[in-house]
Amino acid sequence: MNPAAFEYHRADSVQEAIVLLQQYGDGAKLLAGGHSLLPVMKLRLAQPEHLIDIGRLRDLAGVREEGGTLRIGALTTHHEIEVDPTLRRRCPLLSETAGVVGDRQVRNRGTIGGALCHADAAADYPAAILALGAELVAQGPNGERTIAAEEFFLGFLTTALAPNEILTEIRVPALAPRTGASYQKLANQASGYATVGVAAVVTLNPDGRCAAVGIGITGAGSSPVRATAVEEALRGADLDDATVAAAAEAAGEGLDLLDDIHASADYRLRVVRGLTRRAVLGAAGRVDRGQ
Ligand SMILES: Cc1cc2nc3c(=O)[nH]c(=O)nc-3n(C[C@H](O)[C@H](O)[C@H](O)COP(=O)(O)OP(=O)(O)OC[C@H]3O[C@@H](n4cnc5c(N)ncnc54)[C@H](O)[C@@H]3O)c2cc1C
Repeated sequence: MNPAAFEYHRADSVQEAIVLLQQYGDGAKLLAGGHSLLPVMKLRLAQPEHLIDIGRLRDLAGVREEGGTLRIGALTTHHEIEVDPTLRRRCPLLSETAGVVGDRQVRNRGTIGGALCHADAAADYPAAILALGAELVAQGPNGERTIAAEEFFLGFLTTALAPNEILTEIRVPALAPRTGASYQKLANQASGYATVGVAAVVTLNPDGRCAAVGIGITGAGSSPVRATAVEEALRGADLDDATVAAAAEAAGEGLDLLDDIHASADYRLRVVRGLTRRAVLGAAGRVDRGQ
C-alpha cells in the first residue's frame, strides 16, 4: 500500500525543524532514516500531513568523547555505531547492539535517535541504553533538557519527548576500569527484532566480586525495563554460575510480559531469565582483570 498524501519539508537546522513542528503540530512527524516511520505510513497506521526531514542535519551525526562521556548524535546510523572506533573501544556494548539490528540495509539507513524515539517494544537499543544508565538530550522551543534513560520509555511506542521536541544526542559513560558488557538476543527470524533482548554491564572489584551492575531488558514487555531486583541480588556477590542463575530468576519482576504470535508470555519469561544469566556471565567474562 502507498502512504497517504503528505507535504514534505526539509529542515536545514534543528531550530528550523522545531519551528516546523510548532507550526504543524499534531499533523507533523520528523523523518530520520525512515525505516520505522515509512513502513507504518505504508500500512496507513500513521498518516502525518507533514513530514519534516531531519536526515541531512549532519551536525546531529557522529560520536565524540568528552571527559569520560561518549556523546552520540541522534542521526548516527546503526552501521556508524557498529564500526565507530571510539565506541568499539570505550562503549563496545553499543557497537555490539548496533551490529545485530535488522539487516545491512536497515543498519545503513536507520538511526539510533529514530530507533529510540520510535520506542518499538522489540527494539534492541533500549536494553543497552538502560543498562548503561544513558542520558538523552532533547531540544525544543524552550531550549535543551536531559532525560534519564529510565524516564524516557513510557510505554508501547511512547516516550517522554514532547511532540515539539527533537532528540539530539545520547550520552553514555565510557567503560570504567574492570568493566565488561554483553548483549544477548533471541531474534525474530523474519525481521531480526528482539523477541527478547538483555544487556548487562558489570564492574568487578579487584577481589572478583560484583561492584556495580546494570541490566536492561527489551522485547519481553510493552516497554523496556531495568532489572533492578536482579541488580540488587548481584551487587557484592561472587558472579559464579549458580549465584547468577538464582538472581536471574527475578528478571521478570516489573515486566508486563507480552503474549503474541511471536512468543507466549510464559516462554518469554523463561527466555528473559536465561538471557539475563547469559548476559551477566558474558559481561563478567569480558572484564579485563589485569586493570
Ligand atoms: C526490515 C526491518 C528490520 C528491522 N529490524 C530491527 C531490529 O532487529 N532491531 C531494531 O531495534 N530495529 C529494527 N528495525 C527498526 C530500525 O532500527 C529503524 O531504523 C529504527 O527503528 C528507526 O530509525 P530511523 O532513523 O529509521 O527513524 P524513522 O523511521 O525516520 O523515525 C522513527 C520515529 O522516530 C521519530 N524520530 C526520528 N528521529 C527523531 C529525533 N531525532 N527526535 C525525535 N523524534 C525522532 C520519527 O518522527 C518517527 O516517529 C527494523 C526495521 C526494518 C524496516
